[in-house]
Amino acid sequence: MPFSKLGLSEPILKAVAELGYQKPTDIQKQAIPVVLSGKDLIAAAQTGTGKTASFVLPLLEILNTERKLRGKRIRALILVPTRELVVQVESSIHHYSKYLSLSSMAMYGGVDAALQKQRLIWGVDILVATPGRLLDMAHQRALHFDELEMLVLDEADRMLDMGFIDDINKIIERLPA
Ligand code: AMP
Repeated sequence: MPFSKLGLSEPILKAVAELGYQKPTDIQKQAIPVVLSGKDLIAAAQTGTGKTASFVLPLLEILNTERKLRGKRIRALILVPTRELVVQVESSIHHYSKYLSLSSMAMYGGVDAALQKQRLIWGVDILVATPGRLLDMAHQRALHFDELEMLVLDEADRMLDMGFIDDINKIIERLPA
């Protein structure tokens, strides 16, 4: 099955083709249509199976509307367990959204928060974050979730193993129903 049969639009197909992807992997074939249909999804796949694109590509497709971004607002939130994964996922988003005008940002702890706060002032379409720093920022009212459309918990099992359950619950309590 080619990528073009999955319901993704031309700018995304072009970016994926340029990366040399010839056809979707199993998890991409199964997950992308479900996410595009607006349903919630839990999926499990081993590392290296193309899991990141399986949620990033449909998320880009859904966010690719004319909607205007308001200050301190985000439209999609991707929570991941580690700083390394934040950087990795945000870099994938950057590649896959090459032909779209969507903004993304990587946010994690252990670095000065001032620059991250400044970056949020105009709003960001897609925020990739670790739970602790995200909660800090929300407490400081550096970002608001009232316009959030999509939530992804990447490596959810690892986040639970690492003891992020309280932080994740506190974040979810703040999200729109
Ligand atoms: P991931 O499992 O998301 O970490 O992806 C593992 C690697 O597979 C990354 O280097 C991706 O760029 C690559 N990849 C993802 N989807 C495809 C695909 N459909 N065809 C070829 N490579 C892919």
